[in-house]
Amino acid sequence: MDDRVQLYVCENCGRSIHEGEKYQPADDANFCEEHAATLADILAFWEGDVADQSGDAYWPDEFESLEDAQEHVAELRERVARDGADFKPLREA
Ligand SMILES: [Zn+2]
Repeated sequence: MDDRVQLYVCENCGRSIHEGEKYQPADDANFCEEHAATLADILAFWEGDVADQSGDAYWPDEFESLEDAQEHVAELRERVARDGADFKPLREA
């Protein structure tokens, strides 16, 4: 029997994420290691979002200003250069 504490459920595959396992928290969802976004995915998302002029962009909810959002994109580019595009930022549950 699996009596480990289930802390989260992967939004993509429904797998249980237990204490001590790696996972990736997103805004209102969590992902298992397999389905976590890579740095390239995250960078592509924010690059597109920051460039979105339609008013439907997410950055105004996440950042104080467009400059802050652009700075985040610049930091992500640096992380891609340092850690690689396929690196998945994970946290331990
Ligand atoms: Zn999953």
